[in-house]
Amino acid sequence: MTSSRPTLLLSIDYEDWHQLVRRRVGASNWREAGPALARQTDAVLGLLDELHARATFFVLGMAARAHPDLLERIVAAGHEIGSHGDAHAPVHAQTPQEFAADLRAARATIEDLTGCTPIGYRAPAFSITKTSEWAYRVLAEEGFAYDASQHDSPALRDRAVACASAPHRLELDGGTGNGLWEFPVAVWRTGRAGGLRIPVGGASYWQVLPTALVLRGLTEAGPFAGLYLHPNELDPEPLRADLPNTATHKQRAHARLREAQRNGARRRAPGVLKAIARRFELIPYGEAHARLDRCA
Ligand SMILES: [Zn+2]
Repeated sequence: MTSSRPTLLLSIDYEDWHQLVRRRVGASNWREAGPALARQTDAVLGLLDELHARATFFVLGMAARAHPDLLERIVAAGHEIGSHGDAHAPVHAQTPQEFAADLRAARATIEDLTGCTPIGYRAPAFSITKTSEWAYRVLAEEGFAYDASQHDSPALRDRAVACASAPHRLELDGGTGNGLWEFPVAVWRTGRAGGLRIPVGGASYWQVLPTALVLRGLTEAGPFAGLYLHPNELDPEPLRADLPNTATHKQRAHARLREAQRNGARRRAPGVLKAIARRFELIPYGEAHARLDRCA
């Protein structure tokens, strides 16, 4: 479909919220498949179809293995499959060898379930920091063509962020960069030095930003800026952690807090995404990479 609208890159960090929240609070059943990802996947695919938008799904390996029938539906709908790693461990908490092993585990699962080899990567919680810039070298060595983990949000510490907000080739040790591209998340930089950085690309921020401000910020963020959502943010039903009967009061209180945070984002995300799709063309990262890499 041709379009004169400006173009943004749409991504879904495809993970099972129940696995992650249960592991976070120390619940014993965290490895089990959560009860909502199939429903959330229906909602995501239905909304993207309605909006004529295609996206990159950065798939978490452990979520895909718990729900082995879901990925092929995403591929069949014409979306790109990328990698969100395997275990959702912060990159800066791993050694380069552990990081490479995590990438390989996710890739093996994705290849097994879809037949596709992912060429794009999104770090869990944007966790490539100043102390883990070696991760770009590992990504290049592992055959990735692009990274989408730079997010210059004031809420994230120790960012390994270049000044550039537009997609760019990464300069790695030795200079050549091995051709690895970086596609940063959309950030609205207001004014010159000393201005604000407003993270307008993530659905978790949309819950506290007026829609008009998100749209203005995305216009200013430049072409091929990145958007990201999670399946739970498009869940039509309220999120409940459903901890086992053995869970402690403290675990339950922690889970309630997480539920409240995510349900706030969930209520806002579909409406904001619809407003964005009216003004911008939304394409997968791999398509932008193909266009830019051809021209470079
Ligand atoms: Zn994630």
